[in-house]
Amino acid sequence: MYTTVLFDADETLLDFRRSEHSALTETFRQNGLRDDEEFLRSYCEINDSLWERFNKGEIAKSEITDLRFTLLFEKYGIPLDGKDFNQKYLKNLSEYGYVLDGAKELCQKLYESGLKLYIITNGIGFVQKKRFAASGLAPFFDGVFISEEVGAAKPSKAYFDYVYANIDEKDKSKIIVVGDSLTADIKGGREYGFVTCWYNAKKLPDEGKAHFAANNFYDLERIVTNGKDRATQ
Ligand SMILES: [Mg+2]
Repeated sequence: MYTTVLFDADETLLDFRRSEHSALTETFRQNGLRDDEEFLRSYCEINDSLWERFNKGEIAKSEITDLRFTLLFEKYGIPLDGKDFNQKYLKNLSEYGYVLDGAKELCQKLYESGLKLYIITNGIGFVQKKRFAASGLAPFFDGVFISEEVGAAKPSKAYFDYVYANIDEKDKSKIIVVGDSLTADIKGGREYGFVTCWYNAKKLPDEGKAHFAANNFYDLERIVTNGKDRATQ
């Protein structure tokens, strides 16, 4: 039924939280800073609140990366340049391609069943490229579309236009988008005319925004290979 799967990367196949934790700890240590849970939690709170402000349209994306360490260092009176530190952190982050449990087996099975797999991810080119290369998933994929390189991000039409123009399948009903974000992946993919499957590992309330929903890779594999709809799941 489907020929093509467009997979989101972070928190769908790649374990971003684990990668982030390792990269933060490493970068803090390399710079003689503390790396305890309280310090890491402070960073996450600052980063999350900046992302929230970005999602509300209050700040630009560049302000998130410019400010997250600057605000952390201000809070703790650390005399380091936050913008410069962010670059060091991203360099370390790019080395960590942890995958979620079962992701590699899933991708291998889908690949062996003849499906074409692509990555659709919002992020920084060199970071996502290196993380994906380190993940061990690359042999199963035909392409990786990173927002920074595309020049547009999910859920914009411009992003999906680029992806659609650069994949072989042209029948949109044979293309399924799989991702954990109801906005970037599901809204974006659905509005573009692709079939969508929400990867809801956290078992959040399902408001039926996607054509399909899966709580685990077993269900996800079934949906992608059988195309069963909600009624027959
Ligand atoms: Mg994601």
